Amino acid sequence: MTVHGAKGLEFPNVFLMRVNNKKFPATERPRVFEFPARLMKEGEPAEQFHIQEERRLFYVALTRAQERLTLTTLTEPKGKVPVFIEDIVMDPAVRRDVRQMTTKPAAVQQNPRARAGSAPANRNLFAACTGPAKIFSRIADWAETFHPPSPEPLTLSPSAVNGYRSCPQQYLFGYLWSLKEGPRAALSFGSIMHNAIKRFLGELRKGNRVPFEEVQRIFEMEWRSVGFEDEYQEEEFKKDGLEQLRAFHELTMAAPPQVCEQEKRFELPLENNVIIAGRMDQVNSLGLNDVEIVDYKTGRPKKESLAKKDLQLSLYALAAREVFEWNPVRLVFHYLQNNQVQVTKRDAKQLEEAQSIAQEVAADIRAGQFPPRPSPSVCRSCAYKPICPAHEEELGR
Ligand code: SF4
Repeated sequence: MTVHGAKGLEFPNVFLMRVNNKKFPATERPRVFEFPARLMKEGEPAEQFHIQEERRLFYVALTRAQERLTLTTLTEPKGKVPVFIEDIVMDPAVRRDVRQMTTKPAAVQQNPRARAGSAPANRNLFAACTGPAKIFSRIADWAETFHPPSPEPLTLSPSAVNGYRSCPQQYLFGYLWSLKEGPRAALSFGSIMHNAIKRFLGELRKGNRVPFEEVQRIFEMEWRSVGFEDEYQEEEFKKDGLEQLRAFHELTMAAPPQVCEQEKRFELPLENNVIIAGRMDQVNSLGLNDVEIVDYKTGRPKKESLAKKDLQLSLYALAAREVFEWNPVRLVFHYLQNNQVQVTKRDAKQLEEAQSIAQEVAADIRAGQFPPRPSPSVCRSCAYKPICPAHEEELGR
């Protein structure tokens, strides 16, 4: 939850993560344009307006706690104390009430391999420490060692398998710690578009060739404001969504597909007590047992070559064969942004490879292998970055 989102709310325990320079207080963004001073009712902002705003926000965050407030921070280069933390620990009036905790005992730090295999000595997330009074976060330390077992049979969705392969640590946070990401604009938008398309094609299946105005009405009924940063962003997404649906409607009405399944769920049992469970957006009949499996994408179109080896499509093809006894002759990524349709297929060897990958991932999960795999493209949008050990070490140097 953001501090802005917490305004007016209170909680028994509040954790304020990464109170560090450039995070909190955040770096001031360059102004897009200078607002004319004579149009400002309140006059020109005072000097250091940004830092004052950040201080006000920090005050809001501190005062959300009813019983206990925990701040985490990282030591800055050259041992500097972040400015907001300094305000707290240097003020004699509040200092006596502050308990400082260190979380990375030096002996453990020197031998990270020994630590990886053993449980932490103390599982209390914020246990007090007798070591020197420095301020660290214990969460990253815990993330490296607390690996709850996965339930058996091990059930994985295609996106979980993909997620583990791009970053095992991220998989741990999301699937085994069950830390849910907050709502995000792209996710909300994706869900709204999928629902609108599902309902439009559902009408078509019933023989109702609905005009675009009806699709627009469905889209507006499905719209939710959750996850958008502000009204401007929401309006931009809404405009884009409508344009995309208009183009999609035109394309679909010109050559309606023979939709036989929508959001078709499947459970594909594999060897070693592993189950692949998922949901196909749409299945179109191509005659007899032949089918086309369509996956709608609301993000930016990716290279066509990626669809040819995409694991999600391979697992869909495998499930189509093994679970439903269909012949998946066309596997389609349909990018709604430009209505680009990428068509691919899979041969027996590729289906074998997909099974092997799923088995390897399952074996690594059971073995408790959750190393962070930082990469700019994945970490950029990772909600767990503030508690990720990879980034803790990077910033703490
Ligand atoms: S921040 Fe990067 S390395 Fe850390 S969990 Fe997320 S994706 Fe993995």
